[in-house]
Amino acid sequence: MELRFEELTRAYEGKKVLDLKAGAIVSGSRTGVIGPNGAGKSTLLNLIGGLDRADGGRIYYDGQKQIPKNEITQVFQTPYLITTTVEKNIAYPLKLRGWGEDEIEERVAQLCQELDLTGMRKKKAWKLSGGETQKVALARALSFHPRLLLLDEPTANIDPSTTAEIEKMLIKINEEEKTTVVLVTHNLAQAKRTCDRCLFLKSGQLIETGRADQILANP
Ligand code: ADP
Ligand code: ADP
Repeated sequence: MELRFEELTRAYEGKKVLDLKAGAIVSGSRTGVIGPNGAGKSTLLNLIGGLDRADGGRIYYDGQKQIPKNEITQVFQTPYLITTTVEKNIAYPLKLRGWGEDEIEERVAQLCQELDLTGMRKKKAWKLSGGETQKVALARALSFHPRLLLLDEPTANIDPSTTAEIEKMLIKINEEEKTTVVLVTHNLAQAKRTCDRCLFLKSGQLIETGRADQILANP
């Protein structure tokens, strides 16, 4: 899914924290949103995902103004799971969408296999480690094959080996399903490993946009 924004602004308590003249997130890309703390990265992501409303400007999703809620999903730094088992968490969006039991089972089994969760399908969410919790949140987000996946510092509190698994999964779903991935991260090494394009924000402004290898060569 292609995103374009024009004259996008957001202020909190009278202070403008986002002021983007024009920009785009290329369809099928893995775009890193990078920049220092307070640059407006989360604000931009939350506007795209519809969790927050802009004060001015427009966002277009494949040319349309309407947010395609059924095709977008968001993963947060602190994952919130439902207080039930791993497999029920992953199945939840599919139940909401009316998938049949066999289709749900097939999809849950596939995601658990891909994220190495098969051995803990029956485990309760509150007994998981932080890394396991985030993997379940990612599996749940991916369950219905979203066309746009938004992630806000998903590995900030996660151990390196789980971080590597999550990064690998982002690349895989992007390559295999053409899911557009937008990853907010303060970690430039992560952006380098995971992303093919970058938006560099600073003080609410879009400073640079382009290929990740070019932008990250001289950060
Ligand atoms: P980043 O994700 O790049 O660290 P944020 O988008 O979270 O930046 O925040 C941009 C600025 O907006 C920061 O100065 C932050 O303190 C401020 N801000 C974000 N959300 C709110 C809010 N709900 N109320 C007041 N200020 C906010
Ligand atoms: P991130 O680390 O992802 O940039 P933050 O920790 O900046 O996120 O913000 C987490 C939440 O707190 C967001 O929902 C943001 O809108 C809100 N927030 C951020 N800064 C402020 C602030 N100065 N006042 C009130 N809420 C804020």
